[in-house]
Amino acid sequence: MIRQNPVMRICVSCRKTYDRENLLKITKDHNQGIMFYKGTGRSAYICKSKKCHSDSKIKKKLQKALKTFLEPEFIEILEKEIISYDYNSNKGI
Ligand SMILES: [Zn+2]
Repeated sequence: MIRQNPVMRICVSCRKTYDRENLLKITKDHNQGIMFYKGTGRSAYICKSKKCHSDSKIKKKLQKALKTFLEPEFIEILEKEIISYDYNSNKGI
């Protein structure tokens, strides 16, 4: 099978390297603030592992990676994002 070279990125939680397509991308957009999958600016990635989603230090790790302060609401938004992301990734199987 011919495949384009995957773009590899590191999960902020487990520090393992994954194909970018398999990661949840969080970007601190210059104008619009925190965004998922879009935006331009500093980005951080989380892998699909449950361990990383439920990491109690994930917010701290993301704050460090994005060099920004994340509102307490961010975690709620992130959790919703993860639910739909799990759903989408399971759909094709
Ligand atoms: Zn991870």
